[in-house]
Amino acid sequence: MSIKLAVALEDNKYVRHIKDRLSKSSIYTCPFCREEVIARKGSERQHHFSHAPGTNCTASEETILHYNAKHYLLYCIKNAIDITFNVPTEMIKDSRITPIFDSLGLRKYPLSLAALIDFYGKSNGSCVEKAIGPYIVDVHMPVKMHSSFGVIFEIVVTHEMEQEKLNWLHQYGVPYLELSPVERSDNSFDFDMLRINIPHYFNRMENNFVTNSIVNFYDEIYSQLKDYIEVDHKKKQEKDLKIKAWDWVTEKILYGNLRYWVPEEAQKQMKSLTIRPFKDLAITNTKTMHGAAYKRVKEHRMVFAVDDSDHENLVLNDKNVLEELLHKLAVAYPTEMLMGKGINGREGVVGFKFLNLIDPITYEKEWQDHMKEFFLTVRNRLEKQENNEDDE
Ligand SMILES: [Zn+2]
Repeated sequence: MSIKLAVALEDNKYVRHIKDRLSKSSIYTCPFCREEVIARKGSERQHHFSHAPGTNCTASEETILHYNAKHYLLYCIKNAIDITFNVPTEMIKDSRITPIFDSLGLRKYPLSLAALIDFYGKSNGSCVEKAIGPYIVDVHMPVKMHSSFGVIFEIVVTHEMEQEKLNWLHQYGVPYLELSPVERSDNSFDFDMLRINIPHYFNRMENNFVTNSIVNFYDEIYSQLKDYIEVDHKKKQEKDLKIKAWDWVTEKILYGNLRYWVPEEAQKQMKSLTIRPFKDLAITNTKTMHGAAYKRVKEHRMVFAVDDSDHENLVLNDKNVLEELLHKLAVAYPTEMLMGKGINGREGVVGFKFLNLIDPITYEKEWQDHMKEFFLTVRNRLEKQENNEDDE
């Protein structure tokens, strides 16, 4: 059996790949049997380190394949040589990227080692046979992002990773690739993907895909959704306008100057008290009263109210009724006597001012409290109605 090594120890210290720059003054030995080996880098034959004829090396083909493959992978990681791993898309579990692959008709995703290194942010110190947790891993790549345990490459020649190790990697969220090496004629390897778990990478990829799709296909997506967007937009606009209008009304009425919104005629009514002992008598017009006169006409004492042109207007009320009303009002409300001179020139009471019949301030506050409740109820109903419409 010809044992062709791709890797040898230089001066029993450094691991050297046959692709590395080799020193003519150094001694290269087999990492398994420690016999001296010779680098064969001719132009025709496959480059390798070869044992001397009659070697006692017992390293099996599988052992050497495993050894060569993991060192080749390390060589690629360290020297930024890109390899493509074809990942069957059904292997990418628990990822929303799978439907995207399906829609693109992709059965295998070409995962680039360089992209992986770039994404996780490779640190220095990649190596083979590294202790991670309770396990030894084939190739370890320390990284700056997404994993404090680094990224792990397991090279499978005869035995796949045992379940216990897999569980551990999943439990600690360690990204891993389990690979089966296929040797090529030039000492390089292809790797078949057996298992893979790099969720961060695929999540980021999915996000990028969605973002880029929206950017690139914005016009097409928009034109397809336009009708729906407009309906929703219109609905929302209507709702916003309704509520905005309602808030405006609320604001103006509750917190603005109330009197500004009440017609002057209504304000007069609100603040005044009308005394009408004879309700049956129709009112023909109103005049501003400026005084009163009590006059004896024949055997009767008559009451006259005087307007601004000193015209005496006969008060059609019974004098006693009027007196009684005035007495009652004076008790119920603070009253000012309006003094003046009668038509005969004598000074006397010409009228009465009933104070605080309605306190406009108190009235507004009470009214505000009631209205606030009312406005809020209507506003809630507006919003609720709109939401119900949305549900339909
Ligand atoms: Zn050997």
